[in-house]
Amino acid sequence: MHRKTRFGGGFPAIFYTISKALEVGPWRVWKKMTSRNACKTCAVGMGGQLGGMVNEAGHFPEVCKKSLQAQVADMKGAIPSDFFERNDLDALLQLTPKQAEDCGRLGYPVILEPGATHFKPIYWDSALEIVAHALKSSIPNNVAFYSSGRSSNEAGFLLQSFARVYGTNHVMNCSFYCHQASGVALKMAFGSGTATITLDDLDDCDLVFLLGTNPASNHPRMMTKLANVRARGGKIVVVNPLRESGLEKFHVPSQVKSLFFGTEIASHYIQPLAGGDVHFLVGLLKAMFEAGTMNQSFMTNYADGAEQVIAQAKQTSWDELILGSGVSKQEIDEIAELLVKSKATIFAWAMGLTHHASGVDNVLAVCNLAIATGNVGRAGAGLLPLRGHSNVQGIGSIGFTPSLQEGVKRALEKAYGKAMPINEGLDTYAMIDAAGRGEISTLFALGGNLWGSNPNLNWATKSMQNIGTTVYLSTKLNPGHFHGRGQRTLILPVLARDEEPQSTTQESMFNFVRLSDGGEANVPGQMRAESDVICDIATRVLGDSPVDWSRLKDHHEVRKLIAEVIPGWKEIAEIDSTKREFTVTGRVFHSPEFPTANKRALMHKTPLPKFDSDALRLITLRSEGQFNTVVYEENDFYRGMPHRFCILMAEEDANKLNVQDGQRVTVRGEAGTMENIEVIFGQIKPGVVAMFYPEANVLIDGRVDPRSKTPSFKSAPVWIER
Ligand code: SF4
Repeated sequence: MHRKTRFGGGFPAIFYTISKALEVGPWRVWKKMTSRNACKTCAVGMGGQLGGMVNEAGHFPEVCKKSLQAQVADMKGAIPSDFFERNDLDALLQLTPKQAEDCGRLGYPVILEPGATHFKPIYWDSALEIVAHALKSSIPNNVAFYSSGRSSNEAGFLLQSFARVYGTNHVMNCSFYCHQASGVALKMAFGSGTATITLDDLDDCDLVFLLGTNPASNHPRMMTKLANVRARGGKIVVVNPLRESGLEKFHVPSQVKSLFFGTEIASHYIQPLAGGDVHFLVGLLKAMFEAGTMNQSFMTNYADGAEQVIAQAKQTSWDELILGSGVSKQEIDEIAELLVKSKATIFAWAMGLTHHASGVDNVLAVCNLAIATGNVGRAGAGLLPLRGHSNVQGIGSIGFTPSLQEGVKRALEKAYGKAMPINEGLDTYAMIDAAGRGEISTLFALGGNLWGSNPNLNWATKSMQNIGTTVYLSTKLNPGHFHGRGQRTLILPVLARDEEPQSTTQESMFNFVRLSDGGEANVPGQMRAESDVICDIATRVLGDSPVDWSRLKDHHEVRKLIAEVIPGWKEIAEIDSTKREFTVTGRVFHSPEFPTANKRALMHKTPLPKFDSDALRLITLRSEGQFNTVVYEENDFYRGMPHRFCILMAEEDANKLNVQDGQRVTVRGEAGTMENIEVIFGQIKPGVVAMFYPEANVLIDGRVDPRSKTPSFKSAPVWIER
């Protein structure tokens, strides 16, 4: 009988952090963690010019076990030179995410030729020549460029520029499989696709909604801010089908009282059905409408579209809202009252809202609630998508997207003296689909595990192996290099953020741009800077006119271009001399005037999603020992899940299925099955089950939100077979 922990953080986190540091030498780790480099893990944002382990408000120490996991993993030693000789492709295909991660840093380029059984080391010059040849012999409309959220703004800007000058808009980033719905919805409602608040606003609110997110595991330093909200008498409403230990109680390591006695985080814990968010949020609107407590003057003075949104809430029956959400009327009324009483509310969310075929409507429903209560466009109130990777927002901001704003396009044409391509750029899912039809001859991937983040892994495997030449720029190995290989595959070793020879920049989820100094390589090897590799390949493919790519190897030159081309980023041009990190302009709203056509916010009707009745609804999760697709620990310490092949289930559902805790079952999804899965009883909403991604993605078909193109990783139908 496995049990989830009673709390998050605390001494277990401290002891884990120390044990990690001891793996590679505490002094080495200390020097790296205190270097002026932005944290390599999540987008809360630590480090940079204010100093290592310092947050945007200048507070020290700000560090967490997730940050340590990533740093130590980069320092653990290089892959031996005979590794690929000893391990053929079949052996590499057996590696789990953790085993691939634990192989260490890739210190030399490798290639897998068509039909070969082994990757083999290759000289950099030969590797670059093969990549250049593949691009030169491809039609730009058959070439795709992908980026994870780990790379720098400079590398991302260079690669999207190269793609466009080369002639294609097939430029997509990992957001399509995570926060794209947030960007789409926020832009529809407020004309800007990112957080509307700063980190400091979390010190001025008295109510926080945490919707479909578990910051205790994925953004641990946010827990200090949340504990402070409770300490000053504020409330926190957690909306999550799963009761997460760290959201019930968290022991903040940097606060003595909380470290020893813990801090209650959730004042209210709502467990809706997975995919029942719109029902719940429209329910809150209906409760306020019936109580006459909506902020009518705010809607009248600063927003449009209220009539149709209120009409929807009025006309939708309580039965439908309660059944669809799985939340009682009493709970809905209680939370609506709390919201109305609040002086300033912040709505924060993550994949639990965006990983649905109705992801955009989920986020629009949150925007409607913020507008209907006047909780946007002032200090202490607003909207906060909790972003994953440390620079996922920056990569989007600097133009690593299939379509560019008209102004950015014209500025790039002026800067490069070349017309930008006109082909309709593919999103990530569409690109894999095109690969399956044989329409992608070359894929250039900047970091990440694109394969693993796909739904329907069997489909992704077949599609990606259809690609002629696939190039990965990576720091370490992951299963995507092997399952997501092309007919010819190159893995080129690059430097990590704190190893860069030049300073780089990253943007946090609070629109704050940091400057990272770089530093010495953590391990010996032939790793190169991403920007150097991109410029070398661009020169080999396109020559040095009209763009002199070798000049753009200088990050200062790249930053001058970003300042010219990307709205709100002027200050980056001088950051080398000023060392002044800045907030991107036009993103934070402390007054109710928004960058829409008429400066007013816009409310949107949000249709109620429909679900197949007899299936359980699967939510795929990151474990406590994981960050995105990178697995550092096989077990999930917080949830009491001992390994990766578990399914968390409510006892009520288990009784109906006549299965026991610890019993092995087969889980069948719309796209595949997984056998020998261990049932773990947990405090999860009956009707909902949870498994870890990327492994469970094999079950999920490609049902995507038509506006965000994000697959429904959090409400996929599954059936249990004993
Ligand atoms: S909360 Fe995020 S940004 Fe801060 S130290 Fe942890 S992983 Fe890094």
